[in-house]
Amino acid sequence: MTIYGKQEIIPAGEKIAIAEGEFVISRKALETEKSKLHCNRCGSRFSLREVRLPSGNLYCPQCVLYGRLTDRDQLVSIHREESDERPAKDQISCQWPGRLTNPQQRLADELVKCWADRQNALLWAVTGSGKTEMLFPLLERALNDGRKIALATPRIDVCRELYPRIAAAFTKAELLLRYGGSEDQWRKFDLLVCTTHQLLHFYQSFDLLIVDESDAFPYEGDPLLEFGTLQSLKPEGIRVCLSATPTERLVRTAEQEGWQILRLPQRYHRRPLVLPELVFLEGWRKLAEKPLPQLRFLRICQQLLKESRVLIFCPDISYMLVLEKMLQVKLSGRKITSVSAKDPLREEKILQMRNNHWDILLCTTVLERGVTFANVSVIVLGAEHDVFTKSVLVQIAGRVDRKGNRQNGRVVFCFQEQTSAIRKGIKEIRQMNRLAQEGCDL
Ligand SMILES: [Zn+2]
Repeated sequence: MTIYGKQEIIPAGEKIAIAEGEFVISRKALETEKSKLHCNRCGSRFSLREVRLPSGNLYCPQCVLYGRLTDRDQLVSIHREESDERPAKDQISCQWPGRLTNPQQRLADELVKCWADRQNALLWAVTGSGKTEMLFPLLERALNDGRKIALATPRIDVCRELYPRIAAAFTKAELLLRYGGSEDQWRKFDLLVCTTHQLLHFYQSFDLLIVDESDAFPYEGDPLLEFGTLQSLKPEGIRVCLSATPTERLVRTAEQEGWQILRLPQRYHRRPLVLPELVFLEGWRKLAEKPLPQLRFLRICQQLLKESRVLIFCPDISYMLVLEKMLQVKLSGRKITSVSAKDPLREEKILQMRNNHWDILLCTTVLERGVTFANVSVIVLGAEHDVFTKSVLVQIAGRVDRKGNRQNGRVVFCFQEQTSAIRKGIKEIRQMNRLAQEGCDL
């Protein structure tokens, strides 16, 4: 089974067999240049003495998780000479039963046009605007053109949420879901849904590469992931980046390189983004011990619980676990749990939250984006903490009022000190709402 464009590691000098209509790209895995070692898979550079094995060979310590590369290896990938359009009888049509709103349809059409015009695009759309559904016409077109597509995101949770929606919409396409620890084995696919890490396995493989939430940790600021992403794209391939909170760097790149920048300030249900309420909560760090702030905090929780379920964002895991214990005692009639990146039951608990099992879910910024729960309010505890950057705060606020016919969730930022991230986040939300109301672009 050949997976086109997937890099294999073989000893230098060895050849691999190919079929008619295929060709091979082979490269040295590692190259030395003056006194530096350069890794062709991840782009890292090292001085030679840092990376010498006891055997005398050189290796790349940076991407060793993807299979160790030494200077005796080559990276080879098999490619097809031509992509074939799908014959009429095998055409794929999108099975999504919903309908795009007019603004969504306009942007979806623009994306299809970018594909036809071979132009990269940045889709800058507010949280809860239905970005995934806006991709469907583009995916349908590219699939029917017989092109290979990757839809990548830095977050595993986002992958897991995207995959079933894409699979339900494109039942006839060959799809594959891959992330660190995923159960699916490598096999042929038309469309790969994966973490950005997985793109390091590919070389000049994709005709269309869509990166969702590219401003999220760990992608943003990780040169290895950026290098891998660019390498996985064919030289003539098209890139589409999606974000509700793009970084200034991404916007600048898009402007400088002449990408199409598409903006959508309105949510699909046309209600505005929920504006955070600011609560000065002195002593939030010691909520479990200090009765006064504790009482105030419990009142906030009880008030929110009357109308909705509550997500509580905490700055770190140890703080979260102490708070969880306190809440389980003080609000004993309620179902309360927590999740973090380290929690082995994370997937299960997120599913239970979706099925309305929990009243309160405490979390770290691991749930800042990608997840959709109906009928929730959110509280950010210690909104001034460093982990809560402007874009994280905007994303968190965007968890509220994503689904349903009625708005009943609230967003509460508890803090002891106002930061510029808090001020800028609120300003951005207000600005988006104003633009949506005016019915125009950003
Ligand atoms: Zn490397």
